[in-house]
Amino acid sequence: MSHKYDPATAVQRLEQFGEFGGVNPSITDSATYTFLHEKTMLDTFHGETEGCFLYSRHWNPTNKYLAEALAAMEGTDSAWVTGSGMGAITTALLQLVNTGDHIITSVTTYGGTYAFLANYLKKFKIDVTFVNISDLDSVRKAIRPNTKIIYTESMTNPMLQISDIPELAGIARSANVKLVVDNTFTPMVLSPARLGADIVVYSMTKFINGKNDAVAGAICASAEFINDISNVNDGTAMLLGPVLDPLRSSNILKNLATLHIRMQKHGENAMYLAKKFRQIGLKFNYPGLPEHQDHELFNSMMNDGFGYSGMIAIDLETSERATRLMEMMQERGVGYHAVSLGYFKTLFSNSGRSTSSEVPEEIQKEMGLSQGLIRFSVGLDHDIEKTFKIIESCLKDLSFI
Ligand SMILES: *Cc1c(COP(=O)(O)O)cnc(C)c1O
Repeated sequence: MSHKYDPATAVQRLEQFGEFGGVNPSITDSATYTFLHEKTMLDTFHGETEGCFLYSRHWNPTNKYLAEALAAMEGTDSAWVTGSGMGAITTALLQLVNTGDHIITSVTTYGGTYAFLANYLKKFKIDVTFVNISDLDSVRKAIRPNTKIIYTESMTNPMLQISDIPELAGIARSANVKLVVDNTFTPMVLSPARLGADIVVYSMTKFINGKNDAVAGAICASAEFINDISNVNDGTAMLLGPVLDPLRSSNILKNLATLHIRMQKHGENAMYLAKKFRQIGLKFNYPGLPEHQDHELFNSMMNDGFGYSGMIAIDLETSERATRLMEMMQERGVGYHAVSLGYFKTLFSNSGRSTSSEVPEEIQKEMGLSQGLIRFSVGLDHDIEKTFKIIESCLKDLSFI
């Protein structure tokens, strides 16, 4: 079976109706649910009924529609939606480990994930080994008898390094550990579960919702894993309670329907900027062009027709210069100086001092993270040529080019 997948068609083909034949599923604005018979309630409690709902921290019908769409997008059996990306990541990880276990992770992860792994899990005496995830030998060597998880991001933040998911899946399988992949930067572009990942996690705050009006997350996995996390007796999602609100869920589902078009446009605009940055001799990092060390790997894994996502990083060498450029770009209308990504406007931030500031400076150096690195999340600009011209004029005014 080819791993190439068509997540857009899988989502488009779903037929999810509301009450009264609404073309959008109804919003179930209820925390609790009544039963005609006590027995059905008890059976539902034990997970033995179909189509019954008990309490919305456990499952809500609106969340189920969104989860179904996300599972279709990933090609997994099932999914669960959370109130944040961190809610999804911490739930998935805590479900898989016990005190005394061990996790192997890419050193380049989202700052919050890094802090959770490096600082928070100490509480539970869970050891974490940070590796360069592109160095597969270092991953193999890090495996211990108590290793339970290999964790990575399909495209790492902010270095835009690409994880070799099939190879990591092979290593995980042979060591009998789970491969958990954060696919926040590359929804539709990459389908990690189809490439062998056991569990795919998302911050839906970014591309999936794409409106920067909500914080949300998702876990896509086997039916067994989703049942486990929502188990009333020992499920991490059920007991820690990071559930998404159904009103938000309904909005995100509608935004998911246009994700494929947005990813194409983000990708097209990022490609345009990358080629221009190359032309003017800027130091940049973009996995969609052959100069990037992981370009071929990316090509071998990506689905057709969604581009290379909308992320580019450029290196201004010093944080002072980066700051001046960002302020100028915002003033002149390139986009917003803000953390986060996947928005319709272009967003930019200095990674070392913002989203990766949880990562200690010596580790930032090890990652190759320059203090002058500006990460762009390229927006849905209709006239990207004009956007580039503004960026170019800012760089000239700074005498950087
Ligand atoms: C933003 C982000 C997260 C955290 O998600 P929240 O929705 O902010 O909790 C996790 N992973 C990656 C790659 C992110 O970009």
